[in-house]
Amino acid sequence: MPVRRLVRGLRFQLTASYGLFFTLLLVVLAFILRGNLRSSINDQISESLTSDWAALKGYLKIERTDGIFKPNWYFDDEDVDENFIVSRLKSLYIITDEQGKVLQMSPNYEEQFGVDPVARITAVLKAPEPLFRDVIGKDGQPYKVRSGFVYNEMAKGENHQHKYYVAIGRSVAKNRELLQKFTWYCVSIIPLASLVGGLLGWITAGRALNPVMEVARTAQRISGSSLSMRIPLRGARDELDFLIATFNQMIGRLETSFTQIRQFSIDVSHELRTPITIIRGQLEVALFTAQTTEQYRDAIVSSLQDIERMSQIVRALLLLSQAETGQVVLQKSSLDLAAIVTDITEQFEIPAEGSGVKLSLSGADQPFMIEADRVQIERMLSNLLSNAVKFTPEGGQVNVRLRKRESNAELTVEDTGVGIPADHLPHIFDRFYRVSSPSSSASPEKGLGLGLSFVAWIAKAHGGSVKVESEPGKGTRFIILLPEGMLGEPGNERNLIATHS
Ligand code: ADP
Repeated sequence: MPVRRLVRGLRFQLTASYGLFFTLLLVVLAFILRGNLRSSINDQISESLTSDWAALKGYLKIERTDGIFKPNWYFDDEDVDENFIVSRLKSLYIITDEQGKVLQMSPNYEEQFGVDPVARITAVLKAPEPLFRDVIGKDGQPYKVRSGFVYNEMAKGENHQHKYYVAIGRSVAKNRELLQKFTWYCVSIIPLASLVGGLLGWITAGRALNPVMEVARTAQRISGSSLSMRIPLRGARDELDFLIATFNQMIGRLETSFTQIRQFSIDVSHELRTPITIIRGQLEVALFTAQTTEQYRDAIVSSLQDIERMSQIVRALLLLSQAETGQVVLQKSSLDLAAIVTDITEQFEIPAEGSGVKLSLSGADQPFMIEADRVQIERMLSNLLSNAVKFTPEGGQVNVRLRKRESNAELTVEDTGVGIPADHLPHIFDRFYRVSSPSSSASPEKGLGLGLSFVAWIAKAHGGSVKVESEPGKGTRFIILLPEGMLGEPGNERNLIATHS
């Protein structure tokens, strides 16, 4: 569903959170501003009423006239300012005595609030501070009223003053209107601003995500047959460029793996096709030309030899695949590596002698205990030794050396053979990899190209490593490190260092 996809989209979510945050910020800001405006308007009215009260005290006197106290206003009738102030004071006011009897009251005051109750009058007369009240008049408009008291004038000989309740008011409708206007401004501007903000967010998010979409589109075009494709870097050196570089590296690794797998399939087919062609040829020849039992027998024996080679390849491949996917469990036990090395080296004495190669062993005269799988360790040593003998011409030497190195057993198989060219060194542990140099092809026995793959896996599975150093024409040295008494984990990753000296 497109709406659902849109809502779940990163662009929408970014815009929504941006818009929400923006709106929230504006609302909070509006609330703070409104609060500030309200309190400053309030303060202003209170201050204005206080200064009115001070003016009132100058113009109003409660004096005894004809034996009773009456409020009188004294001001210059001709003075415009005084006239204005007094008329403003008298527009909304009340004066009562202590008992709440009204002495003077503006008609507007009576109309809006009526006479103040005696309880309030008594409370105000007793209170040390004036009382400010927010009142809604009978006209529905808001007012602020300040109430307090004044003393009467004292005549000669009098020593007691009475308190008189006075309240003056002011309409705050205009100020309230100002506050309402502000609220309305906010109510109409905030959604509009949020909308504009959201739109800006949508555009910005779109721009930011555009390159991501481009990466995705390119990634979609990459398939098994177009793994050489790379996403071009934008040159911004930002997070996205980092993502693209990482992605490209991943494609690179995939490409290498794909190439290896493809090469491997080609190699396997090739390896199996050759003996099949030979067997077929032999059997066809036997079928059409053989006449004696002896001839048939020869053809069958020769075919069986080739079939044996094929099964060897299949068995080795199966074992390697199982090993690399962690399906082969090592049967570890405590072994004397020195004894095994001595045994295997002795087994190679006859073939070495046959090839005119001198085989020597050192460092194996004392027991060297390690935790390992005997069968695999023997297989590893045999592979190394058979290669060393195979690739060393007559008159050469093969030395096997065992020694302790830190907490490892270091096993070196060194020969004075044909050596391996530097560009082949990183690949010699790959399955089916054989160096195709004239010198090595001249070697008498053609191998499967799987021996060193086993060596690498066995070293790795025992928690060790294998390293090769070689110089064409001078010789090769394989150095195996096996941790002492270790319990290595079999893994898929190879731990190889190929160096050329
Ligand atoms: P192979 O069955 O062909 O010996 P390996 O995996 O054991 O397969 O070796 C791979 C290739 O590495 C060999 O074909 C050979 O070219 C090269 N190689 C291995 N050991 C030596 C060595 N001691 N001296 C020279 N080349 C070697």
